[in-house]
Amino acid sequence: MHNTQHSLPDIPMRQFKRLSDGCRALAEGKLDYRLPDEGRDELAQNFNSMANAIQRRIDELQHSTERLKRSEERYALSIHGANDGFWDWEVPDDRGHFSPRFCEMLGYPVDASVSDTSPLEAPTTFFTTRLHPDETTTFRTRMIEHLKGITPQFMLEHRVRHEDGGYRWIMTRGVAQRNTQGRALRMAGSISDIHLRKRVEQQLHHDAMHDIVTGLPNQPLFIEHLQHALAQRERDLHFRFAVLALNLERFHLVNDSYSHAAGDHLLHQVAEHLGRSLRGGDILARLSADHFAILLHDLSSNSEALEIARRLLELPAFTVLGSRQILHIQCRIGVAMSDDGGNAETLLRNADNALQSARNDTSSPVQIFQSSMHDIVLNRLTLETDLRNALAEKTLSVAYQPIIRLFDSGIASFEALARWQHPEQGYIPPNVFIPLAESLNLVHELGMLVLNRACLDIKEWIRQAGADRVRPVSVNLSAHQLSRPDLASELLDTITSHGLPPELLRFEVTESLFTRSGGPATETLQKLRETRIAVLIDDFGTGYSALSYLHALPCDILKLDGSFVNSITADSRLRAIVRHSIDLAHDLDMAVVAEGIESTVQSNLLRSIGCDFGQGYLFSKPVPADEICQMLLAQNKARKTGAG
Ligand code: C2E
Ligand code: MG
Ligand code: MG
Repeated sequence: MHNTQHSLPDIPMRQFKRLSDGCRALAEGKLDYRLPDEGRDELAQNFNSMANAIQRRIDELQHSTERLKRSEERYALSIHGANDGFWDWEVPDDRGHFSPRFCEMLGYPVDASVSDTSPLEAPTTFFTTRLHPDETTTFRTRMIEHLKGITPQFMLEHRVRHEDGGYRWIMTRGVAQRNTQGRALRMAGSISDIHLRKRVEQQLHHDAMHDIVTGLPNQPLFIEHLQHALAQRERDLHFRFAVLALNLERFHLVNDSYSHAAGDHLLHQVAEHLGRSLRGGDILARLSADHFAILLHDLSSNSEALEIARRLLELPAFTVLGSRQILHIQCRIGVAMSDDGGNAETLLRNADNALQSARNDTSSPVQIFQSSMHDIVLNRLTLETDLRNALAEKTLSVAYQPIIRLFDSGIASFEALARWQHPEQGYIPPNVFIPLAESLNLVHELGMLVLNRACLDIKEWIRQAGADRVRPVSVNLSAHQLSRPDLASELLDTITSHGLPPELLRFEVTESLFTRSGGPATETLQKLRETRIAVLIDDFGTGYSALSYLHALPCDILKLDGSFVNSITADSRLRAIVRHSIDLAHDLDMAVVAEGIESTVQSNLLRSIGCDFGQGYLFSKPVPADEICQMLLAQNKARKTGAG
């Protein structure tokens, strides 16, 4: 409609000829040119309407020239104001036009003398030779796809080399203009600076994939590495790799006895040491607290993995943050080989299962995964649920084992020992369920259950046998419990809430707890002793404590581990050590109990070297509370008849 309104009128050729002759005559100054009479009116009419149409066209052209000028100004202004760089590419003769901002983004200073809207003209290699090698192929492929008309627009986030030599992240967009055959003749678009956003994204991605304490890859990233290794193995069946799961022994003691900062510092040192011990290309990750994982690439044999694992066991001495203390930390390692099959998660789980078995088997700190370990782990999972239920329903029971005065065989005290009769699996020994409770953070709950049960049983013995016949009961405390800052008052409150005098209860702690003097464990035990509660050091001789710092142990009674008792009859040197330990304990006002006495030979020998008390199957196995009551009554009768 627009066109028909402004188009010139349709004039017959004959008249048009005359009209143009007339116009030329006028133009040449032949002003006497006259129009012929014939058709004059019609011609004048046409001339008129043509003049009008020409005027309209002139108006319109003026108008659109103005509009174009305004629009060009606007365009120049927006290019100048926009943060993006613009480019325009004449495809057939590869002529590129790059806006000043475009050039500035690549590190060229904007020349103030040049109008800042005038573009630089150059072949596109000006830009394409600056692409980052990692993205050059993608850039080319996407560009060809778009030029061929496969994609509606070109768009790519990529890096370009800046004049300062570094790379910057940009987003390039563009759309091609095509001829009627669909051939791209021209393409134009922009580049946006996305460097900052990309860096933040990369940082976030890095943080999400790495452990903050050590800077090592975390579990999700480790799994990604495993997936790559598995993909490589699929392409090349000779490619063999191994997954190692590594755990530090008793790391929690560092956290509990020193501080979390000291724990973190230790983890950092361990990570650095392990990193240095690995070959280039191997991957070290920290999965959780003291749990590391290692991917050993390209192994020649399974035994190579074992050799490396054994080498990793040899950890150097580490320093404690803010102290001159030196720590000798040990670790355990589980190994899973790529031949075991399965996906990344399965391989890691296999290594963890092998680690679990290395932790349970004290003889071998490195274990290779075997499929039977999977069943063991499944069984452990069932046991975990059952133990939770047993604790919640209080179906765990307590047995008591008498501790005998060796010089007159009288009962001196009892040890309370937790007992678990599993509904399907029968008797489960404490050596199985106590570590399980520790790993599930349930050992304090278990300890409190035993203490409450013991208090109730003591009250019952007092009721039946009388207070003067009742003997103290010692309850075992796990190292995990001793890291609780308010443990002493919690224990004391429990005892007094039953209305019992504190001296009727005692607590046993293992000597391995005292890797150094001081710390929260020592404080707790001191507080207990101040309230007349005796402290016993359990399994003495098996841990790290040395006779040289026996004096620093806050305890009243030493319990010599059963393993000594077993060998002292045959080993005279060991006998000498035990005798000296007993003498030293006496000098320090401590009494000594020998555990695990099974024969009269052992009992007599221990008595002869000065041991005060004995505990073992020779005297009695651990028995239920009502049998203890009978024992107390019998003991009393025996005394009365003079046979004790
Ligand atoms: P423990 O505290 O050293 O307890 C002594 C262990 O030696 C008991 O094993 C006892 O039954 C066993 N025993 C006693 N006399 C003999 C003997 O003549 N020969 C032999 N071979 N063994 C003897 P049990 O009851 O299996 O307990 C094992 C360990 O489990 C305990 O060692 C203790 O560390 C832990 N435990 C038991 N009950 C508890 C508890 O309530 N809390 C905590 N935290 N640990 C507990
Ligand atoms: Mg004990
Ligand atoms: Mg013991």
